[in-house]
This record gives sequence, C-alpha cells and structure tokens, in this order.
Amino acid sequence: MEYWGKLPSILDSASRTRKLSHAYLLTGPEGIGKKTLATAFAARIFCEGEKKPCGECKHCRMFSAGSHPDFITVNREKDRANLSIRLIREMIDDVYIKPLLSSYKVILIPEADKMEFPAQNALLKVFEEPPSYCVILLIAKNEQSLLPTVRSRAVTVRVPHLGEKVIEQKIRERYPENAENAPFLAAFSGGIPGRALAMCENESFLELRGQWLDELFALAQGKKSAVFTMAEQYEKNKDRQDILLELMLCWLKDALFVSREYEDGIINQDRIQELETVAGSIPEKNLATAFTFLAEERRKMGKNPNIRLWITDVILRMREVLHDESNRNMF
Ligand SMILES: [Zn+2]
Repeated sequence: MEYWGKLPSILDSASRTRKLSHAYLLTGPEGIGKKTLATAFAARIFCEGEKKPCGECKHCRMFSAGSHPDFITVNREKDRANLSIRLIREMIDDVYIKPLLSSYKVILIPEADKMEFPAQNALLKVFEEPPSYCVILLIAKNEQSLLPTVRSRAVTVRVPHLGEKVIEQKIRERYPENAENAPFLAAFSGGIPGRALAMCENESFLELRGQWLDELFALAQGKKSAVFTMAEQYEKNKDRQDILLELMLCWLKDALFVSREYEDGIINQDRIQELETVAGSIPEKNLATAFTFLAEERRKMGKNPNIRLWITDVILRMREVLHDESNRNMF
C-alpha cells in the first residue's frame, strides 16, 4: 500500500539529508495512514538511489518484497492485548547487532501505545544509548498511553488528513467502478484514506447508503412509513449503526447548507436535487434543531438496551422536529 499524500516535510528532509533522529512517533486517528507513512519513510531511509525511493536499487527491491533484513517490525502477539516486554527485549538484542546490508536499521512498532510500561521502560534504555544506525518508528493512535519520557525522546509527527481531491483521485484510479461516487466517498471520508478504502472495498456500503438516504428523504417529506423502514434497516445493520447515524447527520447538515446557500462543503453532492427540495420545504430552524437533536442522541447511542425502540423514537421525534409537530416539547 502506497502513502497517498506527500511525505510531511520533517520526514522528507530527514530522509533526503540523512539527518535522522533515533526515534519518530507517528500519531493520528484510525485509518489516517500512520503505518503506510512509516513504511514509506523507511523505504526512503534504505534507498540508495538518487530520487528516493527509486524502486530499482537492491534496497528498494528487497524492501518492497518484504525481505529487507534491516527492517524489523515488532508486532503484538495475537493472543495478548498488550505488547509484552519479552518482544521489546528481543528487539533490543537485535538493535545492537549491526545492520547487514544498509547503513541503517529501522525498527517499526505499529502499536507502540499498547506497550506495557515495563516494555516502555526497556525501550527507554535504547533511547538513552542508541546505536548510530538505528531508527525506531513508533506508531500510536493514543499517544497518551506512552510514558512522557518516551514521547519526549521521539520526534512527533501528526499524520495529516488528506485533501478531498487527493482521495477522490485515488478512488478513481484504484476503484474505477466507484468513479461516479468518488466525490461523495472522498468528502465522507473526512480526509482519512483508510475510511475511503473501507467504503470502496465494502460493496454493499453504497447500496445501503442509497436506501438509507431514500428513506430519509421520504421521512423529510412526511412519509410515516419511512420511520418503520429506517428503524428496521438500522436494527438489521448492527455493525454499521454509527455510520448510518453519521450519514443522517451529514445529510441534515447538507440540507442546512443548501438552505443557507453555502456552496462549499456539501458532502452528498449527488443528492443535490433532493436536498434543494428539502431546503425549500422545511424551515432552516427546523433543520438546525433536527441536526442538534440527532447529534445529541448519537452521543447516547448504545446506552439504551432496546435498539429498535430507541431508534424508532429518535426517528419519530426527528420527523416531528422537521415538521414542527411538537417542537416546543423537544428540549
Ligand atoms: Zn532505491
């Protein structure tokens, strides 16, 4: 998997000038590309070509085949929740053995935030006396789980969100079958490439979204039957409930934007006609109230043991808000 964005300048210049730190900490949310970026950086560190990574030198070839002897990944054992001190000790023993082929030895720890504290303490010893050739790449979703002493000894790189245009372009290249939906997928990904990929690779996602927004439009037009259909869909798609709520929030936000004549930032561009119909028939303040109501309810999601009852109530009340039926009782 290639990194879709440009290498952050701190990593780009470090790999070009060979002024490398002993440790880097890459942080960011799930799917942002932390590991992909770390791997792209490692490839540049090893490459001996002019333009890095050249893809042709022996290091590049071995690296892309996954067989570079100086690149070590420390993965958590499958049956353990944490990264044990045993694995870190093994890695430390390895660190002090000189690299075989390259002038560098790169250690990747993909779930550094899962290191037990004794493991982190052991790692600190390497940070105190690092061999000159060693570069340690730590990846953390939750950097607060790392000891401050570990964090302070590594160069922190916050992996940036990608631009919508970049993601849209990549979707078109890699998933030509989704070209038509690329603008929506890119906008809905929120700049997180892993999220865009997950949506592209899950064939039924776009279908579900289509049905969900059809029903939502029907609901906004006052159709009572939509309440039942949506509650049923929601209950059925157990592993996608949060995304269904998010789709609903995005759609309401879009309708609000259309109503306020904001042209930028509309996520469901392919639904613009429906959004215009909604914005033309439902007062802006009702759309805003419905949005706030739903955002508030989403925070409570999962607290109610009866999902069907909860979602039916939420959708019914949203319908009421949109049509001003009992607005005054809402809050
Ligand atoms: Zn190369």
